Amino acid sequence: MTAISSNHYDVIIIGAGAAGLMCAATAGYRGRKVLVLDHANKPGKKILMSGGGRCNFTNLNSTPANFLSDNPHFCISALKRYTPHHFLELVERHGVEHVEKAAGQLFCADSSKDILQVLLTECDWSGAEIRMETEIRGISEANNGYRLTTSVGTFACESLVVACGGLSIPTMGATGFGYDIARQFGLKVLPTRAGLVPFTLQPALKEQLAPLSGVSCPVEVSCNGMSFREPMLVTHRGLSGPAMLQISSFWQPGDELSIDLLPGESASENLQTLRKDAPQSTVAKYLNQHLPKRFAQALNDLNHWQGPLQGYKNTDIDQVADALNRWHIKPSGTEGYRTAEVTLGGVDTHQLSSKTMAVNDRSNLYFIGEVVDVTGHLGGHNFQWAWASGVAAGSDA
Ligand SMILES: Cc1cc2nc3c(=O)[nH]c(=O)nc-3n(C[C@H](O)[C@H](O)[C@H](O)COP(=O)(O)OP(=O)(O)OC[C@H]3O[C@@H](n4cnc5c(N)ncnc54)[C@H](O)[C@@H]3O)c2cc1C
Repeated sequence: MTAISSNHYDVIIIGAGAAGLMCAATAGYRGRKVLVLDHANKPGKKILMSGGGRCNFTNLNSTPANFLSDNPHFCISALKRYTPHHFLELVERHGVEHVEKAAGQLFCADSSKDILQVLLTECDWSGAEIRMETEIRGISEANNGYRLTTSVGTFACESLVVACGGLSIPTMGATGFGYDIARQFGLKVLPTRAGLVPFTLQPALKEQLAPLSGVSCPVEVSCNGMSFREPMLVTHRGLSGPAMLQISSFWQPGDELSIDLLPGESASENLQTLRKDAPQSTVAKYLNQHLPKRFAQALNDLNHWQGPLQGYKNTDIDQVADALNRWHIKPSGTEGYRTAEVTLGGVDTHQLSSKTMAVNDRSNLYFIGEVVDVTGHLGGHNFQWAWASGVAAGSDA
């Protein structure tokens, strides 16, 4: 790649991920001269790895209630103006086949590559340029705009959009650069932590559950006033699956999780009825009817539930029911940014316009996507935020 001494653009976007590419195409279609800069070797790496390779690109039921933020109202405006149906219309216009898995969760029928291709085609049609493998070494204010010193030369722009994402999956090119830029321009960055991430367990429990690695069952997990009824997956490292990923965003170190292994069932009532109708029956038999066999067996062994139900007093049944409907565990931690799908916290939205994503007293500096303190639940909400915030900034920058 040849070195460039100076090059002027209307808009420079740092980060060729979901939000940055969406913003680039939107600004490009407005006739703006747009350049996207990224240090990675390929654009949209997280799009490619998302949704198990099939990108859960939006959620038709997405509402502001599906997002965490210190400023919960901030996301409303952008999400209202660019809805899941807008993105679906774009995807369908490009002929991408999609499937609805769980209610409202739209995935590519074939591959995540299709979504990336939509964005790259849109950037191409809109005239936006994308320059990969470019290290940004410094940013300074110049002539009512910004000057960027990079590994391939100096660029200048009127408007600068920061779309560098969060800290999750550093091996995919994630850095804290967006937060550094925010701090450089005097913005507050709220503490960050890994979200949508599997839990690790204390060694004793991890060992007891290890034989169950790969077993999944529907649960309702609760922590800090939030509950999710979704599948839980036992892994060789701890607990994962949608239920655990969802609740991890609400969990703080030291908190207990309450796991209902029989959501919608009262184990106490069921066992009392069973004791009356079939006194020779056992807890193990009851568990086998309600849980995957390996899980039922391990749970029974863990709790040493033995003998026919007729030998169980009411207090014994209450204890069993507690363990089934309110299994309390204290995770030792999470797998952290290494495997987290998102980063919670980030650029404080109180300093941004909810309409344009521009910094309040600096109308030509924008922050979009995951770098901002807006984090979605699992299920396509995070991409919807990337598209909506990208369009909001791209319509103004
Ligand atoms: C394994 C996994 C699966 C996921 N699955 C889904 C899913 O199915 N549905 C969903 O809604 N969400 C999913 N997510 C979350 C989703 O990927 C993110 O919310 C989304 O990609 C955020 O978009 P973004 O553009 O803000 O950041 P990113 O997509 O992370 O893009 C940021 C870009 O900035 C670049 N960058 C970073 N630092 C620098 C720097 N210093 N200089 C230059 N460039 C830099 C990066 O290389 C990257 O290209 C998943 C995440 C992971 C990790």
